[in-house]
Amino acid sequence: MENLRIKAEEAKNGQLQAVNSDGSGQESKPDYDCPKCQDQTGYLKIQDGFEVWVRCSCVEWRRVQKLMRSSEITDEFKKLGFKNFRIEGKPELIQGAYECAYNYFQSFRDIREQRQNSIALLGQPGTGKTHLLTAIANNLMHKKHVGVQYFPYVEGFNDLKDDFDKLEEKMGRMKEADVLFIDDLFKPARGKARATDWQVEQAYAVINHRYLNHKPIMISSELQIDQMVEIDEALATRIYEMCKDYLVLIQGDKFQLNHRLEGMT
Ligand SMILES: [Zn+2]
Repeated sequence: MENLRIKAEEAKNGQLQAVNSDGSGQESKPDYDCPKCQDQTGYLKIQDGFEVWVRCSCVEWRRVQKLMRSSEITDEFKKLGFKNFRIEGKPELIQGAYECAYNYFQSFRDIREQRQNSIALLGQPGTGKTHLLTAIANNLMHKKHVGVQYFPYVEGFNDLKDDFDKLEEKMGRMKEADVLFIDDLFKPARGKARATDWQVEQAYAVINHRYLNHKPIMISSELQIDQMVEIDEALATRIYEMCKDYLVLIQGDKFQLNHRLEGMT
């Protein structure tokens, strides 16, 4: 890419275009993301006869991209928003969960430093808990430039259990992220909550740190708070205290509530 030449007149308009220096006219793909500043995050502009450095509008975009990359939210999940969550014709409980999630996002700036600054969507599988929390995460990153760390409980811990260095590093990020999203906490296998002593110890270390420092968490789980209390009382009561203003339990007829079973009755 060293044979690039910039057309001067286009550069003046802020619309840079890369052309081949051999004059073949065949355009090569520029190796920068922003044609306006060529990834310099700003450019010189004449203002009142002086050259001034102007911050490029791509700076905001870069910030969001960086947040999205470090969130560990998968590409598929990055598409999940409030708009593509279907509520028409859904049971009231699910509409209530939607409203709770949306209100949480709307109130985030006002509550983020408070004791009750977190959200938990609990109850049956297939009811859209993960979709709603992911919608909050995506909106926080895009619209409020807040960093979110995504942690799928089962896969996350499987991935970490044999790698001490990776565990330390990941736990550090989970403690310090602006917002931590733990998906499917204690996700049961064959009706039994998955919570080894080691998993509970790690989860407690992270959540207690966030509790003490008033850092928000978002939690989805098939377990209710009292079932969490049976696993670890200190952990469960901290989660409850942080989430009690935005806590929804979705419990009822699974053929009505589970979107994966729709049309079966
Ligand atoms: Zn730019």
